[in-house]
Amino acid sequence: MDNHVATITLDFSQKTVKDIQIIQKKFRFKCKRCSTLCCKLGGPTITKDEAQKILQSGYEFDDFVDPTKNSGNGIVGTLKSNKDGSCIFLRFDQTQNIYKCGIYRHRPNLCKIYPFKFEKLETNKVAVHIIPCCQGLNNPEAQEMNSQFVTDFLIEPLLQTINLL
Ligand code: SF4
Ligand code: SF4
Repeated sequence: MDNHVATITLDFSQKTVKDIQIIQKKFRFKCKRCSTLCCKLGGPTITKDEAQKILQSGYEFDDFVDPTKNSGNGIVGTLKSNKDGSCIFLRFDQTQNIYKCGIYRHRPNLCKIYPFKFEKLETNKVAVHIIPCCQGLNNPEAQEMNSQFVTDFLIEPLLQTINLL
């Protein structure tokens, strides 16, 4: 499968969306809460603003930030991981037999957009690509991808990370 599923046209200066083009209209995604890869790959990078939101959950900065991979440009480090590579905020709900995020409302943008990632194409266009290993891709329980899906799940984190593209 081609990994390019949609293209978003933006007004970068105003941070507004001008158009959403779905490239693969048959594409489906619905998370299976399996956490097979997404939360067990080592912690995602986080920005200063994202760290501030996690602080609102009652954690101290040193509890969750590993600053050794601090790459600048607003990135303060990565979320800390357990020895097995799983994120320290990953929780397993034995009752429902699914994984959950312990800071769901304040999780970093990389977590919000997974299994998608953005690539700046031209001055005002951003490609939405899929990360192929996710278990929820082409999940038959999901609806086909449309512009509403992009609006609901991807636009806000895109606008918040646009300066990093
Ligand atoms: S994003 Fe994909 S890999 Fe992660 S829990 Fe959902 S289905 Fe599983
Ligand atoms: S913050 Fe939550 S969603 Fe992100 S990697 Fe950790 S457990 Fe997964």
